[in-house]
Amino acid sequence: MSPAAENLQRPLPTPVPGCPFCQIVSGELAASIVWETDLVVAFRDIAPAAPIHVLLVPREHLPDALSLGESHADLLVDLAVVARSVAEAEGVASSGFRLVFNVGDDGGNTVSHLHMHLLGGRPMTWPPG
Ligand code: AMP
Ligand code: ZN
Repeated sequence: MSPAAENLQRPLPTPVPGCPFCQIVSGELAASIVWETDLVVAFRDIAPAAPIHVLLVPREHLPDALSLGESHADLLVDLAVVARSVAEAEGVASSGFRLVFNVGDDGGNTVSHLHMHLLGGRPMTWPPG
């Protein structure tokens, strides 16, 4: 079971005005949350591209994967652990799934708050479109 938000051990992050994922983290915008830790919130994508499509976001606003550095080691480990937990909870750990960071225009990034896509529940094709 994921830790409840009220048991957070860290200070609340500063939301960036207008950022939808900051609003989901703060509870200002509704989302179907499936997992939470001190560092990460995971919720269902509003326009799922697969039967299982969950977004894993840091509570802290970071624009994208280019913003990650050595100071984010704890966050990166947490993203990996939450991805495994969500995959197991959603029943796709054995069948397989895909983890994706989209970066920049050619990467197809549309929301400027770092997020990892977890997609599963159907066979994925490669290369992606
Ligand atoms: P990307 O194209 O990698 O930036 O992915 C952004 C994802 O966020 C898309 O798959 C959208 O469907 C999803 N998305 C945008 N707004 C919301 C929202 N309010 N709740 C859940 N998912 C969202
Ligand atoms: Zn944000």
